[in-house]
Amino acid sequence: MRMVMSDVFSNLGDFFTQLFSSISSGIVFFGGPFDMVLNLVDIVVTTLVVYYILRLMADTRAWQLLRGIILILTLTLLCELLGLETIGYILNNSISVLAIAFVVVFQPELRRALETVGRNTFHLLPSRLGLDEEIGSASIHKTIEAIVIACERMAATYTGALIIIERSTRLGELLTQENVVTLDSNLSATTLMQIFYKGSPLHDGAVLIRNGRIQAARCHVPLSDNYHLRRDYGTRHRAAVGVSEMGDAIAVVVSEERGAISVALDGRLFTLENADALRTLLHKLMTTEKKTGGVISSLFGRNRRLAQEEGELPEDGIGDVETPRIPKRRKRWLMIASFAIAVFVWLFVQTTTNPVETRAYTVQLESRGAEVLRDKGLSAQMPVSTVTVDVRGRLKSFASLSSLDIEAYIDFSQIEEAAVQTLDIQIEIDALMHFEVVSKKPTTQTVNIYTPSGG
Ligand code: ATP
Ligand code: MG
Repeated sequence: MRMVMSDVFSNLGDFFTQLFSSISSGIVFFGGPFDMVLNLVDIVVTTLVVYYILRLMADTRAWQLLRGIILILTLTLLCELLGLETIGYILNNSISVLAIAFVVVFQPELRRALETVGRNTFHLLPSRLGLDEEIGSASIHKTIEAIVIACERMAATYTGALIIIERSTRLGELLTQENVVTLDSNLSATTLMQIFYKGSPLHDGAVLIRNGRIQAARCHVPLSDNYHLRRDYGTRHRAAVGVSEMGDAIAVVVSEERGAISVALDGRLFTLENADALRTLLHKLMTTEKKTGGVISSLFGRNRRLAQEEGELPEDGIGDVETPRIPKRRKRWLMIASFAIAVFVWLFVQTTTNPVETRAYTVQLESRGAEVLRDKGLSAQMPVSTVTVDVRGRLKSFASLSSLDIEAYIDFSQIEEAAVQTLDIQIEIDALMHFEVVSKKPTTQTVNIYTPSGG
């Protein structure tokens, strides 16, 4: 990492020097207008990607650590620039450690962020490869009614329950555990209550609802390790939050201690007033969201805050103390930061993948204006020789440059009399826009101009 850091600096340094010198010498290494537009698009797209990633991160606990890392990076940059070696060394080395720590510590958040990306971006693609048909709205209505009625009665009788409604994230991994009982039965309030009835052999664990059917009972769900959860919640509620962290599943919990109905969504737990609130919420989540929460709005996390924004859900789990909503001013800052990062990354990529280089080409020396000379009754005798030309340009531009595109010549057209003369060697390159001649060797050529005896 240390190596990389100092490489970055020397590369960037080189790049800037080259850039300034090339601008002052009138040759822009970025090539023609097309290349410039391409670079611009590149930066804009990068900005958007960085912005999206930051937005995703801003919603998680990883954000604070990310800020810490950015701070350390900035400090490292400063130290490196000021030449403070010891502190620079320490900071430089902690970056690599922090980078690994970041991935390890925030593995769940990163996974969720990636899952969100997959979920939102590929809405356009069939996420289930046509394995099962979409259930119609009548059937959604029936599903919701069954769940709501069952929860209402179980809440009244203080029967504990955990119902997981699978949506686009497939929860097949829950079905592979050993205690699971696969049912694939019709969904009805009675069936649900039978399952969760305390004497029932199926009451322990969660029920998985898939496509309006009871897929399985006694599912064991990984518990959430969300430390923001209220302490008096036990394992059932933690399991509900845990499953909601795995994707876009909805988990409905009935507490056997409190007789309350809660819903876990996107890693947060909401306690509802009554069964009617559950009905409203489920309808909102399972019907409206499908239609209105299109790709764009869900890209920017509208759905996950839907319930809170509607103002009808007191957030109980205190899932995200930091930023439930991102204010405008902060958005602007995020955008500016994204742009700065994009430009920096772009510069870095340009200097590492496509740096400015100098290459030597060996070219046959030629002559021009021999006809003019002949018209003046003169002839030239020029030794056969080659010229070594140092050309500077971007790495990728060199791919299309061969020594055949470079012409080294001496010009006879200005010569008026017979003599031994020393003439400047001139260089011409096709596509000069991308290149600059740094030096040539030799720079001159001595030729013998004479009057041919016969002529
Ligand atoms: P309640 O308010 O109903 O008491 P709680 O959040 O306090 O809920 P516990 O009292 O610990 O939770 O409830 C234990 C029950 O939760 C277990 O009997 C089991 O049915 C269910 N449960 C616990 N862990 C899991 C899990 N990982 N996956 C699914 N169900 C679980
Ligand atoms: Mg309990």
